Amino acid sequence: MPTPDVAQARGCVLCGGPLGEAVFQNVRDRLGISDRLWTFRRCRECGSAVLDPMPSQEELLTAYPDSYSFGQAPRTHPMHHLLHMLEAHLFYAPLYRHSVRQVQRVTGLRRGRLLDVGGGTGYRTVFFQRAGFDCVVLEPDERALRVAQEQFGLKTVSGLLETAELPAGTFDVLTFFAVIEHMPAPLETLKIALRLLRPGGWIVAMVPILAGWQAKLGLRWHQVREAPRHVFLPTVEGMSRLLTAAGFEFRTWEGGNPLDEAGILALSLLPASASAIACAEKRWTLRFGYRLVGAGMTLAALPAAYLAYRLGRSSIGVFFAQKSAQSEGNGSIQRTR
Ligand SMILES: [Zn+2]
Repeated sequence: MPTPDVAQARGCVLCGGPLGEAVFQNVRDRLGISDRLWTFRRCRECGSAVLDPMPSQEELLTAYPDSYSFGQAPRTHPMHHLLHMLEAHLFYAPLYRHSVRQVQRVTGLRRGRLLDVGGGTGYRTVFFQRAGFDCVVLEPDERALRVAQEQFGLKTVSGLLETAELPAGTFDVLTFFAVIEHMPAPLETLKIALRLLRPGGWIVAMVPILAGWQAKLGLRWHQVREAPRHVFLPTVEGMSRLLTAAGFEFRTWEGGNPLDEAGILALSLLPASASAIACAEKRWTLRFGYRLVGAGMTLAALPAAYLAYRLGRSSIGVFFAQKSAQSEGNGSIQRTR
């Protein structure tokens, strides 16, 4: 079967299929940065929802707030520090430890060179580093990279996969946590990712899943209102086709952590509890109040999120694929026996 050059095609950026009916219409950016109304259309082949039209390069570059990663929020009030500490320990640390265990369990790797693509401030990356991986954070946001260097002592590379000069065939794992759904030409980007891996190396991609239980929230679903930063919301079929078209051998996928799911549900029901919005509030009482209610909602949603996870209806998926162990060329290192 010929591989569709989806970057050139109008249509589904995951599989190259034609786009059909609108799944989500009149979508407003939850952060209010983009003032346009966006439409996601369903791919007739893989069922994924794709923005139509795609945002322009200019719209994508200007669609991000000053602090998009956890850890970049301002900490000018003692309350910020307390909130930040509580969130880091009670929410993010368990999530990130789970990520490390999941990657170790599925790939069987305990150490190796890991490139965290779009790794932001390195909050998640540092858990991989502590577990024994030799990590590099790749990220276009210079301020986020400073946090990764100064706070966590991580190695960093500034830029995108398309522009960064990284040695081919040298990484054991490339991770994309909540990154691929931001890419307007994911096939081209993943082909570059393939070149950077050693033969047998792994790609790990965490993305929102359209067929999950939370997609039923429609326009209230947080992942939808991340348009135009989210340019598509994939199905499992869409992700598997994308990874295969990029040259990977698709291995498996698992649901995301129920705590993450519950947090997304809280953001869907109370968008103001998101750090990017709450931290912009002038009064710290409001800022604190929103976040506290958000945390309470996250805890309340945990049982439902856990049930969805057990039933295989997760709305976050973690995908695992491998570069063929036989692949050579592209500057790959020849392994000696
Ligand atoms: Zn498709």
